[in-house]
Amino acid sequence: MAASGQCLFCRIAAGQIPSKTVAIGDPDLDRALYAFEDIQPRAPHHVLVVPREHIATLNDLKQDHALLAGQLVLAARAIAAARGLSGPGYRLVLNCNADAGQSVFHVHLHLLGGRVLGWPPG
Ligand code: AMP
Ligand code: ZN
Repeated sequence: MAASGQCLFCRIAAGQIPSKTVAIGDPDLDRALYAFEDIQPRAPHHVLVVPREHIATLNDLKQDHALLAGQLVLAARAIAAARGLSGPGYRLVLNCNADAGQSVFHVHLHLLGGRVLGWPPG
């Protein structure tokens, strides 16, 4: 499984940098992904879900990553459900490159919820 020793989220997923782990609650998803609290939450619930494999941006996803891409969404949905957000609603965000404001170059899915979220995003 490719990982970059320089990458913040690779190091977080490997437990080399502390984070507040969020349970995904499914062994298959846990093997492929790591979830943790965003350090600068933008909503009452702000969780990041990352592949354990280092993938810099969405542009680097290959056909072989199709399962992983689906697992990212399913993991976020499971976390949202565990937090009681399924009914009220929540938002999943994937930022890609500069115009979207991507600041960490390891693919990560933002799960945001717990308040009314404006649309369109900034
Ligand atoms: P993005 O702007 O989409 O690249 O999102 C990067 C996210 O990572 C931001 O929401 C940051 O608050 C978050 N972040 C940066 N460093 C850490 C960290 N050490 N632990 C948890 N979240 C972090
Ligand atoms: Zn990485």
